[in-house]
Amino acid sequence: MSRNNLFCFLFFLFSCSHSQVPSVVLASEIPTFSIHPGEVIFVSIRLPNSVHSPLMCKDQEIKFLVEDNKILAFVSESYFSNEKDYTCYFYSQNIKTGEVMNFPALKITVEKKEFLKEKLNVNPKKVFLSEKDKLRVKKEQARLNIIYNQSSSELLFHKGFEVPLSSKITSIYGTKRIFNNNLETQHLGTDYRASVGVPIPSSNSGRVVLAEDLFYTGYTVILDHGLGVFTMYGHLSKLFVKKDEFVLQGQEIGLSGKTGRASGPHLHWGVKVHKEWVDGDSLVASTRIWN
Ligand SMILES: [Zn+2]
Repeated sequence: MSRNNLFCFLFFLFSCSHSQVPSVVLASEIPTFSIHPGEVIFVSIRLPNSVHSPLMCKDQEIKFLVEDNKILAFVSESYFSNEKDYTCYFYSQNIKTGEVMNFPALKITVEKKEFLKEKLNVNPKKVFLSEKDKLRVKKEQARLNIIYNQSSSELLFHKGFEVPLSSKITSIYGTKRIFNNNLETQHLGTDYRASVGVPIPSSNSGRVVLAEDLFYTGYTVILDHGLGVFTMYGHLSKLFVKKDEFVLQGQEIGLSGKTGRASGPHLHWGVKVHKEWVDGDSLVASTRIWN
C-alpha cells in the first residue's frame, strides 16, 4: 500500500487529499483482492448504498456492471507493475458545490512475479525498421490505442473464456525476448504451435473491432468482449471475419500463419484488459465461474 493510500485509508473520515468522504466506511469492510503483474481478476463487490461512477483503479477508469445488488468488474495489473498495493475508488461530484468526493471500493494487493528470458532470430527488417515502416507502425499504434480505448459497456459474453488452441505452447506470456541478439522486448501474449492453415476459433463471443494486416502481428483479428476485455489473434494467413461483425464463442475467425514479425508459423494470442496486456490463462481462470 502506498503512503498516500495508507494516509487515505487511516484518515478518510476526516480528510483525504483534497476530497471528503461523507459516510463511515470501516477499513475491514473494504473487500480485498490479490493479483500478480500481468494478470486480470474478476471482482464482485456488494453494491454501495448509492452507485457512484466512475470507478477508478490508479488512474484507470474501470467499466463495471450492476447485477443482483453487486458490482461486477475486471481489474488488470500491468506487466510493468511497481508491485505496490492500492485502493480503487468510486468518484462522484457534488452538483451544488462541484466538489469531487471519493469512496473506497476495493483494495488490491499486488504479489511479486518473475518472468523467463529467451533469444529469437527474425527477419532483420522487422527488428531494425526503415523510416517508412516506423511511420506505418506509429499510425497503426495510434489506431490501436483508439480501438482499445472503446470497449463496450455491455458484457458481450456469457460463458467463461477458452484458450484458442490446445496445441503446445511455444512461448508463454511475459517472456523477456532478445531479438537477433540486440533488441530486448517482452512477449505479452501466448504462442501456440500451429502450422499454416489451422482454423482459429474465437475464445469467446464478442464484436470484431479490427480484422486486417498489421506490421508486427500480420493478419490480425481483435475482438471486444465488453467491460474493457479484448482478445487478439495474430500472424494469421487468412481472415474469415470483418470489422463490426459479432462472433460467437468457438466461431472460426481465420487460419493460422506466419505473417508479420514471426520466426515461424504459430498463433499469437493476446489478451488486453483496461489497456494492459495480461496472461490469457488468468482471463480463463477468472471467468471459469461462468461455465
Ligand atoms: Zn507471440
